[in-house]
Amino acid sequence: SDSHFPVPISPSHVDYSIHFPQIFPDSSKKIQFADVGCGFGGLLISLATLFPETLMVGMELRDKVSEYVKERILSLRVANPGQYQNVSVVRTNSMKYIPNYFEKGQLSKMFFLFPDPHFKEKNHRRRVISPFLLDEYAYVLGVGGIIYTITDVEELGDWMKSCLENHPMFEALTEKELEADPVVKLLSCATEEGQKVARNEGQTFQAVYRRIVPTEQT
Ligand code: SAM
Repeated sequence: SDSHFPVPISPSHVDYSIHFPQIFPDSSKKIQFADVGCGFGGLLISLATLFPETLMVGMELRDKVSEYVKERILSLRVANPGQYQNVSVVRTNSMKYIPNYFEKGQLSKMFFLFPDPHFKEKNHRRRVISPFLLDEYAYVLGVGGIIYTITDVEELGDWMKSCLENHPMFEALTEKELEADPVVKLLSCATEEGQKVARNEGQTFQAVYRRIVPTEQT
């Protein structure tokens, strides 16, 4: 249960010296990307070299899986001196503790790749995208920040899109913007789950939205 992992009492208590030991002493940089439910970490590994100057973290509930990601990052650091210093992982329940990790407007990208579908209506409240949680994500994302979602479950894809579409602080990226964003190409192929879906030639459904300042209601 949750009692088995430590939770920082506020974003200023997140220990950057543990997560980014090589970068930490000379930099006041903050984490800007969060991969929520990162699984085995494939996306983070791709992003780490694509954005070498950006600090990023995976959030994963399963203890063994988060330990695996930690080891994966440590061995990549050893094998590639100077690289992968900007990526780390925390074991946590993102549905409860996002505001403990990030302050208002801190993040520029959040990822929700192939989240658990929770099919039954009574379990929809366990979905990682919901109207309530989008309020929290809007809080930790800076204006212009982007939420990336993808799933192979059509019903969940519709759900995530409609939650985002109906939220006053998010707007969809245009086709042109999606094409120009190198990160969009990673959504379907960088993670372990995405690769599995691709091997089985499954369909995917993505929704990519930007945090905006809501227009005033009249
Ligand atoms: N994003 C990865 C990928 O595409 O390969 C993993 C997808 S996997 C189907 C969903 C992951 O979300 C699992 O590893 C699960 O443990 C994690 N997860 C589920 N609920 C979570 C929560 N509340 N907080 C953090 N991680 C969670």
